[in-house]
Amino acid sequence: MISTLIVILLITLITLITLHIGLPIFYYLYMKNKEEDFEKYINNEISYPLVSIIIPTYNEEKNIKDKIDDILSQNYPKDKIEIILVDSNSTDKTVEIASKYNVKILKQEKRMGKANALNYALANAKGEIIIITDADSKWVNKDAIKISVNFLNNKKIGAVTCIKKQYDEKIEKSYRDLYNVIRLGESSIFSTSIAHGEFFAFKKEYLTNFDENMGADDSYASHKITLNNLRSLAVKEIICNELVPKKGYFHWRVRRAQHLVQYFSVAIKDYKKIRNKDYKKIILVEYFLHLINPWLLLLSIFIGIYLLLLHNLISIILFIIFLVSLISKTVRTWILTQIFLIIAQIKNLYNKEIIWEKEEK
Ligand code: GDP
Ligand code: MN
Repeated sequence: MISTLIVILLITLITLITLHIGLPIFYYLYMKNKEEDFEKYINNEISYPLVSIIIPTYNEEKNIKDKIDDILSQNYPKDKIEIILVDSNSTDKTVEIASKYNVKILKQEKRMGKANALNYALANAKGEIIIITDADSKWVNKDAIKISVNFLNNKKIGAVTCIKKQYDEKIEKSYRDLYNVIRLGESSIFSTSIAHGEFFAFKKEYLTNFDENMGADDSYASHKITLNNLRSLAVKEIICNELVPKKGYFHWRVRRAQHLVQYFSVAIKDYKKIRNKDYKKIILVEYFLHLINPWLLLLSIFIGIYLLLLHNLISIILFIIFLVSLISKTVRTWILTQIFLIIAQIKNLYNKEIIWEKEEK
């Protein structure tokens, strides 16, 4: 005879699994159908406002040359671009290499984190439009600046960010694809909940500073712009390549997860300040997906193991289904991401990684 305990555990297990998988799948499918045609924002008769491009650097000697060359190869009048490099006392040749170019170099004597450096640069930027970009990233489309300026020409749009592709697509392409679909869907509805430091363009008048107590300076900046009831869009024509670390991949993913967790924990507190109803829902779902959903998986695993130890047949079947599903790379990446998010929440309690060691890329 099956004991009541087993029945209760089984029902709980199945409910948890259904929720854990169901919500993200539902959210993804919903977003997939939402994609708005942004064509209307692209007109070719644009003016060329002055754009300040800020590159924060800490020990980027390997990347900085390519980064500046990449910006200079953009189709945008050179006299309308101001490149500002803000360096936090790199111990390598970053500044030496950058000084060969027509680039404004701001030096900080002490390393106080990326957001702090961005604020210093922002205070010294002349452009009405600002683009921040990480030194280890590359913009695929040569019209990236122009497209973002076009979008920002619209009164309702306050910020524009890229979608991401990795150089080494092997590692997490399936996950990236799902992720990008969601970013584009959210943008179509109102605003993306996550913005990328590889390309984040915004109107300076709506953002005076980056939060220095938080790792996800980019996403939080985007969020602050939406609090002005302006849209922040991820645009599919603007694609960024980023380097994936060769060593320290695990640490890298955990750090990024930590930053997202910090961001959504703060964003949810602003919930009442969000005026757009749809964006409210987006933040709520994303908060759930980043902070709560991973624990449902962990809990299911514990309950599952307990039932397996009792030789419960249904749990054995579920376990076999679980093992088979691991053939799919998307599933494996998904599970790994949940693990990173759980570790991130725990690690945030004692080390927020606002200043971090760069992984070797
Ligand atoms: P990841 O993209 O999350 O792996 O982070 P990165 O280590 O690539 O850092 C993103 C960008 O911020 C890079 O251009 C770094 O050089 C830069 N960066 C990181 N920490 C600091 C800092 O303390 N000061 C400055 N100025 N830049 C920083
Ligand atoms: Mn990077």
